[in-house]
Amino acid sequence: MEHGKQIYEGKAKILYETSNPDELLVYYKDDATAGNGAKKGTIVDKGIMNNKMTAFFFDLLAKNGIKHHYISMPSDREMIVQKLQIVPLEVIVRNVAAGSLAKRLGLEEGVPMKRTVLEFCYKNDELGDPMLNRYHILAMDIATESELDEIARISFEVNDILTKFLKDRGVDLIDFKLEFGRNSKGEIILADEISPDNCRFWDSKTKEKLDKDRFRRDLGGVEDAYKEMLHRLTGE
Ligand code: ADP
Ligand code: UDP
Repeated sequence: MEHGKQIYEGKAKILYETSNPDELLVYYKDDATAGNGAKKGTIVDKGIMNNKMTAFFFDLLAKNGIKHHYISMPSDREMIVQKLQIVPLEVIVRNVAAGSLAKRLGLEEGVPMKRTVLEFCYKNDELGDPMLNRYHILAMDIATESELDEIARISFEVNDILTKFLKDRGVDLIDFKLEFGRNSKGEIILADEISPDNCRFWDSKTKEKLDKDRFRRDLGGVEDAYKEMLHRLTGE
């Protein structure tokens, strides 16, 4: 699609202006990184698959009353989104111990948490996305108390909707990362992407990993895992 000036290139996506000042075009790349950019590679057609899966999840969430930034999909790799002022937080929701949580707390990967865990990290690559608590966020003026409550409320709701939906498709939702932004009215809106790049998806029966851990941990079968997730979601 014709697009305007590039305003940002990140590790996985490029943002462009559009003719509408309230909207952006997001281009999904095949580039893959792990460990805050320490490991780099490409996953064939990842951009296409993540664009489609994100659009699918946002549509599902909208049907369940969640406000999000996704507007339309002009091509396989591109989506039009509402331009937001991003809250610089990575909001992590965890149902089962895995990854950095398992490592940090000495938990075995795959052990369910007794209740859902919500974590915040400061979205800052130079600092390596350090973990923050509510006090840090308020003290640093990253978000207000009511914004944080809204972010937590939406995150738990997204978790419930996605967990139930994925269970029917034979997938356990282990953990995931969300981002939020403010629209011109100051409302908190779900942003960024929902895909195997930022969620852990395990096959319910075999516990096979169907997400970016296959890339992070050199497990092989990376493209096939993304394809399998797209298939389970859309039938494609
Ligand atoms: P990173 O910045 O971590 O390398 P990406 O390559 O995915 O990540 O870049 C996408 C960028 O777009 C992220 O910085 C994200 O916060 C930002 N973003 C996501 N949704 C919106 C939106 N609706 N409006 C403005 N920026 C957004
Ligand atoms: N995550 C993410 N971006 C990050 C860090 C984590 O999308 O910068 C996601 C990751 O895909 C996983 C969840 O957040 O679904 C929890 O990740 P964890 O903290 O275990 O990080 P990792 O093991 O990747 O270091």
